[in-house]
Amino acid sequence: MQAKEKKISHIVIVGGGTAGWLAASHLAKQLRPNAADGVKVTLIESPNIPTIGVGEGTVPMMRNTLKDLGITETEFFKHCDATFKQGIKFVDWLDNPTNEHSSYYHHLFDYPEIDHFDATPYWLKGLAGEGRSFADCVSLQGIVCDAELAPKKITTPEYEGITSYGYHLDANKFSALLTKNAVERHGVQHIKAHVEEVCLNDDGEIHSVITKEKGEISGDFFVDCTGFDCLLLGKTLGVPFVDKSDVLFVDHALTIQIPYESEDATIPSYTISTAMEAGWIWDIGLLERRGVGHVYSSKYTSHEEAEKALRAYVGPMADKYPTRLIPMNIGHREKFWHKNCAALGLAQGFVEPLEATGLLVFDATAKMLAAQFPTQKNTMNIVAKQFNERIKLSWESVIDFVKLHYYLSRRDDNQFWLDNRKAETTPDTLLERLELWKTQLPNALDFYSGYEIFKLENYLYVLYGMEFSTDIEALSHRYPETEKAKQFFSAIEKAAAKLKGDLSSNRELVNKILSFG
Ligand code: FAD
Repeated sequence: MQAKEKKISHIVIVGGGTAGWLAASHLAKQLRPNAADGVKVTLIESPNIPTIGVGEGTVPMMRNTLKDLGITETEFFKHCDATFKQGIKFVDWLDNPTNEHSSYYHHLFDYPEIDHFDATPYWLKGLAGEGRSFADCVSLQGIVCDAELAPKKITTPEYEGITSYGYHLDANKFSALLTKNAVERHGVQHIKAHVEEVCLNDDGEIHSVITKEKGEISGDFFVDCTGFDCLLLGKTLGVPFVDKSDVLFVDHALTIQIPYESEDATIPSYTISTAMEAGWIWDIGLLERRGVGHVYSSKYTSHEEAEKALRAYVGPMADKYPTRLIPMNIGHREKFWHKNCAALGLAQGFVEPLEATGLLVFDATAKMLAAQFPTQKNTMNIVAKQFNERIKLSWESVIDFVKLHYYLSRRDDNQFWLDNRKAETTPDTLLERLELWKTQLPNALDFYSGYEIFKLENYLYVLYGMEFSTDIEALSHRYPETEKAKQFFSAIEKAAAKLKGDLSSNRELVNKILSFG
């Protein structure tokens, strides 16, 4: 009798942005609301508060998510104005901008052969030849990106790639697709109502929410997906926000949507991230339009200057279109699960979208919540403790990795860049690793936790793309496989040349998918 009373049989999610719908989808898929003993999942979404409507870059994990949730790749392309994304091209991050723009790629997860043969020390020794970038020596993908090609062919099976990929997508259209799929396929109940009050029981747990349109809705467990507002976990349960703006300085985004100049304009299969005086600009090509945003620190530049820089970047086309200003809270909650409430999405935390980590972290959290969801309330504290430790590690690792991009820059055209490389603004964990890697090669064992979002491959691309110096001379004797390395570099070059002849452009491939699907 007692055990029955403690069963969790109704989960209430508040918030219908991407985070809310990802949470609802993963929970409902796992906990089967329509099964006899299933757990009911209800999502409440305010009709008055719009979703943030940005978040257009994803990483390859999104492919697994879509597949798991039963969405076909063709259906996804049809509904989301989506294109393929193979990586991020970082422009002007290393030095102050000149007419010769410096750039490097941080690819997604396409890093062939590292398990069998790590070419990094040989590239550092200069065996790949003068001027060849690190990325081009260990992966085909930069060469595919430079040639403006897609990561696969029309005959490649859904969700598989010749090179690895994620997507660029329209955030509002993606939310709409997730909504339809969660309700129709996974049995989520959708209520459009504004939560006006959150009610607690004597144990300080959330008992119910009072909505304007539908009155009181009670539940056993609550998921806070109310965006930056963080109504349940933050405002009601009082879990503090850990501000990280002393490490990552950008605090505003100015966005603009621009149509293509012609129907056959090139759509890059990578995000372009161009460093600016006090931040950076993202440039994302969807099928119907570009989404461009200037992310900057209001401590180091004014909103007017930021808008001027954004419009100058876009060119005369920008004159016809309005911008939208989005203030951003940089940091995360001290805990992500407290009592009977977990937070996901912007309510959980946010750092600037430099590596498109938002959806990645929220999707991973939603999956973890669903997989480990307790059936009984009496095990909830154990699951909550693990959840809090793991998500904290993920956030800390994201912060370190994003900071790395700023810390390695040699730019000095604004105090923003100088302050970014001060030790007092940089986490010790990152400083320690960088100190180590001056004299020894980054190693998979340096990344000891499975909850670190960015690992060895990601670090290598950024470190050596940003000309980080590892003293390879002192280590040279450890890497005697010179001939093998030369063959490796030459094989990559040949394979890339062959692939270039096989692939079509990003736009062509998406159009083919839409017309055949
Ligand atoms: P929101 O979209 O803000 O949704 C909040 C929801 O809560 C809404 O449905 C609202 O109606 C509801 N709500 C609020 N209060 C109440 C209430 N009282 N009652 C009922 N409902 C309520 N992520 C990436 O992965 N890649 C990117 O490239 C990327 N770029 C970004 C750029 C910027 C500038 C920003 C700010 C974020 C970016 N992100 C990116 C993150 C991404 O936008 C978010 O992860 C994602 O949209 C999830 O948002 P959310 O659902 O948490 O919040």
